[in-house]
Amino acid sequence: MPSASKILDGVSLSSLLDDHYYAEARALALSRLETSATSGRIDLEGPPINDESDIVLGYVISRLVLAAAENQALVNYVALSEARRAERFLDSEADEGLVEVANSLGITTLELNGSGFNLNFIDYVRAASNLREGDWKLSNRGVSNGVVTLDRRTVVRLMREVIRQHLEELPEAPREIKDQFEGTIDDLQSKVSKTFVERIGGLNEVVGERQAEAMKELGRFDLSKAPPCFNLNLMDLQAGVNLAHPSRFFITTFLSSLNQDPEAVMRLFATAPDFKEAYTRYQVEHITGKTSSTQYSPPKCDTLVSSGVCPGPNALCRQIRHPLSYYRVMAESEKDSRIRMERILLAALKKEEYPVQLLKQNIDNLGEVDFSYPEKIEMRKLSAASKNKDASQVRVKVSHFQGRVYSVDMPGEERKIWITKAVLNLRQGNVDYDCLPLTDWKVALPINEANFKSQEIDLVVRPMEIIFHENEDPRKMFMVLAVVD
Ligand code: SF4
Repeated sequence: MPSASKILDGVSLSSLLDDHYYAEARALALSRLETSATSGRIDLEGPPINDESDIVLGYVISRLVLAAAENQALVNYVALSEARRAERFLDSEADEGLVEVANSLGITTLELNGSGFNLNFIDYVRAASNLREGDWKLSNRGVSNGVVTLDRRTVVRLMREVIRQHLEELPEAPREIKDQFEGTIDDLQSKVSKTFVERIGGLNEVVGERQAEAMKELGRFDLSKAPPCFNLNLMDLQAGVNLAHPSRFFITTFLSSLNQDPEAVMRLFATAPDFKEAYTRYQVEHITGKTSSTQYSPPKCDTLVSSGVCPGPNALCRQIRHPLSYYRVMAESEKDSRIRMERILLAALKKEEYPVQLLKQNIDNLGEVDFSYPEKIEMRKLSAASKNKDASQVRVKVSHFQGRVYSVDMPGEERKIWITKAVLNLRQGNVDYDCLPLTDWKVALPINEANFKSQEIDLVVRPMEIIFHENEDPRKMFMVLAVVD
């Protein structure tokens, strides 16, 4: 608030952090953080027990300590406590005062309308972005001429969100401040009462334990097969970010479609700063069908893109339309090696009809294909690797990479085989080398990234002889077995 920031006029950072005159403000800063971290509430006595300017300066110092602590989960916990504290004050403000505070916090379109308040719908949607359920949905509010009409209680609750969002975006402490005042900030942190220090440590531990526990509970779920939308939202959740409703809905339905127990899914949400067990349990059990007649499915990519859940597609995403397809394609390397080889051959031959004879010839010619390779393998040039029947490690550039989907009818069956493949060529010097298409996207994705960045990449390859047309000699191609970390 402009009137509060006036208190900072003429106060230098060095005196704020070092001067004895501001000792009370520093103590209040620590108390602010301490009560927030221990109870989720900030209880500070106002005047006459504490001076108003000490309270304001204490707030500034607490932000400095938080910025230096560099722990986003902690920043989010404190942001929620601060927002709750502000909400208590706003609750007792006169309507005019409420409008003034909202306006100075950037909600400039809030105005009084008789006994209610008018708010531009864009400001409403922005402020309520984390509250998209029930009455909070714009469609349930009713918009007239771009304006939403709200009652006082709703405005106060919205302001809590605005303040929380604002405080979660704590800028990084500038390097020079960190360097110049590192000792002072450390000192301040070390003066934080024992409870606070333990709580911070404890808090990190609790969050860490909850995360480890939650991931353990997910049992057979394999994170390395999950699409970017799942992994990034999960990372946010574990960093203590309050996820918006569409993200929570997606995480819940995605995991439940992969047969994860609702109890394990619920525990994942226990790391969110606004976690409420009973409420979360109700939501998760409803969505997963445990307490309702419907088990909801995860939305398609199109929907996840428009609701802001998708962080942007990678090369595999561009070949699929649903996040569950992503997980299924990523499981290719778990198939039996005979089926895996057959699928690679089908992808390479790309015939319109299932090539029974050609497949048989190739499989007879190749014998049993082993996708494993020894731990120690020789580094070779691609030209030498093509003459050596063993696996070789090669350092190459990728001259061509393209994702494709291939399908063919199964003979005598009413089903198709679908294969999501990556077509690629490797280059060393000025020579391009042909490769069998990749169906294992755990290998294909890092290769695509190297191609995108024009970087060299270390791969494990083995030469194979493939017959493309009956009665023709086989052609030599590389099979890429793995990416070397
Ligand atoms: S494109 Fe689909 S699968 Fe890929 S990140 Fe976006 S929503 Fe997820």
